[in-house]
Amino acid sequence: MSGTFRAIQINKIDDKQTAALVELSDADLMDGDVTVDISHSTLNYKDGLALTAKAPIIRKFPLTPGIDFAGTVSASDNSDYKPGDAVILNGWGVGESHSGGFAERARVKGDWLVKMPAGMTAAHAMAIGTAGYTSMLCIMALEDAGITPDSGEILVTGAAGGVGSVAIAILSKLGYSVTASTGRTSEEAFLKGLGASSIVDREEFNTPPKALAKTRWAGCVDAVGSTTLANVLSQMNYGGAVAACGLAQGMDLPASVAPFILRGVRLQGVDSVMCPKPRREQAWARLAKDLDMAKLDSLTSHIKLDDVIAAGADIMSGKVRGRIVVDIA
Ligand code: NDP
Repeated sequence: MSGTFRAIQINKIDDKQTAALVELSDADLMDGDVTVDISHSTLNYKDGLALTAKAPIIRKFPLTPGIDFAGTVSASDNSDYKPGDAVILNGWGVGESHSGGFAERARVKGDWLVKMPAGMTAAHAMAIGTAGYTSMLCIMALEDAGITPDSGEILVTGAAGGVGSVAIAILSKLGYSVTASTGRTSEEAFLKGLGASSIVDREEFNTPPKALAKTRWAGCVDAVGSTTLANVLSQMNYGGAVAACGLAQGMDLPASVAPFILRGVRLQGVDSVMCPKPRREQAWARLAKDLDMAKLDSLTSHIKLDDVIAAGADIMSGKVRGRIVVDIA
């Protein structure tokens, strides 16, 4: 292992944030008990926010962004990991306050890592990434609320994005009937290929929300928030459940309590960043079993470390379909 490696580095000079691809040395690695040679990373919405400085995601400078990585342990002082182990990292503030995945090497706390599920490649793990692992957490939240394929139709909002597209692929493999809400109706064939049985224009959920509307959905994976989530809540069946993980439309929630107190609707928040390790391991084991890797390939594109900064701007302008893997090694 050489003492230098390539990494994207974000700096802040005179209140202006810059991003550049630079060469770093092992002396630049942050504190931690496990060093990982990164083979793959991925671009999430939050990474787009960090790379473009559209939100204050980066909380320490200079820092390498990238909230996910997969690779091989090269050195370890943690008894749970040894050199050669294949590992995944998602969240825990990596790519925000601790240098992350847009680099050939990282040093992190071993407690943050998850062992690669048997049979899964690093490229597939990063095609899933935080977005896909969050989709699985959302589906587990619906299951915890008692939703099954017999309960009725499941709505997925932000359907052509990362969380939405992986959620559709998993739900359809599990036997659910899925409606995809998208602003990109041109993606109908793509979304139906993933397993959506019908498509709705997202503008349907962008009208002033009523307290209660005609019931349509047994469950929902919502990556959008705001007016969309408020409208979805008003349309949930009696006893239905919504797993809310995103804010692509906004952080507000202009909703009524009527669905909760008159229809027993459940709204379950989903967080991937600080999710306890046993639930993460459960989600990754489920992903290895319940996600069709051929469908995952169909929603994934690949870029290099050199392309990451430009791709960060693309994800912010809603141009990205599905998931992007960053091939690092
Ligand atoms: P993407 O950018 O890949 O997808 C977001 C999708 O939301 C877009 O593709 C678009 O779908 C839809 N969308 C975008 N803008 C609007 C709008 N103004 N109104 C309605 N719909 C809109 O992002 P991800 O899928 O990676 O992430 C989705 C959300 O989930 C983000 O807010 C992200 O921060 C959050 N997230 C949260 C996590 C957690 O731990 N809670 C973890 C991972 C993500 P379409 O084109 O189909 O309409």
